[in-house]
Amino acid sequence: MARILITSAIPYINGIKHLGNLVGSQLPADLFARYMRARGNEVMFICATDEHGTPAELAAAKAGKPVADYCAEMHEVQADLACGFRLSFDHFGRSSSQRNHKLTQHFAGQLADHGLIREVSEKMIFSIDDNRFLPDRYIEGTCPNCGYDSARGDQCDNCTKQLDPTDLINPHSTISGSTNLEVRETKHLYLMQRALRDRLEAWIDSKADWPVLTTSIAKKWLNDGDGLQDRGITRDLHWGIPVMKGDQPWPGMEGKVFYVWFDAPIEYIAGTAEWADANGKQDADWERWWRTDKGAEDVTYYQFMGKDNVPFHTLSFPATILGSGEPWKLVDYLKSFNYLNYDGGQFSTSRGRGVFMDQALSILPSDYWRWWLLSHAPESADSEFTWENFQASVNKDLADVLGNFVSRVTKFAKSKLGEAVPEGGEFGPQETALIAELGARIRDYEGYMNAIEVRKAAAELRAIWVIGNEYLQAAAPWSAIKTDPARAEAMIRLSLNLIRVYAILSQPFIPDAAQAMMAAMGSDDWTWPSDVPEAIRALPAGHAFTVPENLFRKITDEERADWQQRFAGKRE
Ligand SMILES: [Zn+2]
Repeated sequence: MARILITSAIPYINGIKHLGNLVGSQLPADLFARYMRARGNEVMFICATDEHGTPAELAAAKAGKPVADYCAEMHEVQADLACGFRLSFDHFGRSSSQRNHKLTQHFAGQLADHGLIREVSEKMIFSIDDNRFLPDRYIEGTCPNCGYDSARGDQCDNCTKQLDPTDLINPHSTISGSTNLEVRETKHLYLMQRALRDRLEAWIDSKADWPVLTTSIAKKWLNDGDGLQDRGITRDLHWGIPVMKGDQPWPGMEGKVFYVWFDAPIEYIAGTAEWADANGKQDADWERWWRTDKGAEDVTYYQFMGKDNVPFHTLSFPATILGSGEPWKLVDYLKSFNYLNYDGGQFSTSRGRGVFMDQALSILPSDYWRWWLLSHAPESADSEFTWENFQASVNKDLADVLGNFVSRVTKFAKSKLGEAVPEGGEFGPQETALIAELGARIRDYEGYMNAIEVRKAAAELRAIWVIGNEYLQAAAPWSAIKTDPARAEAMIRLSLNLIRVYAILSQPFIPDAAQAMMAAMGSDDWTWPSDVPEAIRALPAGHAFTVPENLFRKITDEERADWQQRFAGKRE
């Protein structure tokens, strides 16, 4: 049994996420967590809401609520939706937790003790009309690198260069639109990433098994232009983690908070501590996942995220970990995703374009979405959601292939042989061939899942469903029952067992349907089918089963057209 630590990039607090956000981190992380548990490993799967920063402050102000109340409410909304999508977090934490306050202040103190923090008196942009310093992305202007005219103060969306707000040409406030900006002097802490550059590069070079998408982005930030830059880790805001050096005051930093990007990844660790607190456990119980001096040396740590989060996870967060001088666990494998586009354009939160998590669950159960999103995950390139493709995938893969197999087998068995696994006959060459092919395909499926090749795993799972239908079509128990009833009984005995095997294999993708299939087979034995000949005989003759409700319904053309129109844009 291996010990597997999994974190998903933590979703920002200010609103409900769309399906592109979901498939970029939380959903594939859940797939992997479910698979690793199914294989008998010890898994710790952590996610949280990312609650600090100016967007939270502004969203709370717009909602007319204190920011702490707003975040608490939105955390519950996001937690409920995660539950609705069957995201199987061991804990869904909050970056505003006291655990994260303490850990973030601790890391800052450690970095300072190791000479990796410097104080910088810098000129920041103050908006006179907004009466506040304007953080990063509330300033827009022209990118000095590529000339894009809507570059944000923290990053240019066109060329992905990380920016400082003062780099922008012709800046304006995106809060008020005001160009009445002035530069004021303020003091901030900088993490001296340049001093850690060689250690970071050596660490990244040691990761020969990382996807090219991941390493190429990391290398770009290490080497392009002037190379890796020191990074400001504090801000002039009220909402956030107060700047402290460990548990001591930080002279000159009174009233300032840590930058949200500094504290957010530390929440992966703090979220695990929150898990311990929520479950009446000791510090040792979470530290054994994170401290290599306290039991984490045999942990393998996987991170999931969209490609836009790669620089922070390959450089900034590892700089925090390495620079602390303490034996915290570094990520072993980082799985990053491209973008999911929506029906000929992009998902847009501001314009309400695309399907959001709450809307998705209001029209269809989570398995339909999980299947489509995972089987079309944007791995090697961006992918696109279209309603035609969604309809075809649900109707063919889920309804015609898997749902139809389960329905045909159970209904035929019940009507001709009764509601128990039949005992007659022996497995012949057709069954032997099916068992052999099933075994080979399950090994391939395991290989793709172990490598987190999500689309290939989905394609293999579908192929496994298909061979059941092909077997049934070729064996034709509905004919055999008239000429050789014992043969028909053997076929149905195998087919009923196959439904249980399908439930186990499919559970990481479509957990609700898997539960329904397992329940219909009257079993709760989720043992992974490593030994296929044994697994295909797990339900013995005489074992009772029931005919499940239709597992999947088809999407009609009228529904497709209606939804296509409804989600084209305009959500407030
Ligand atoms: Zn640019």
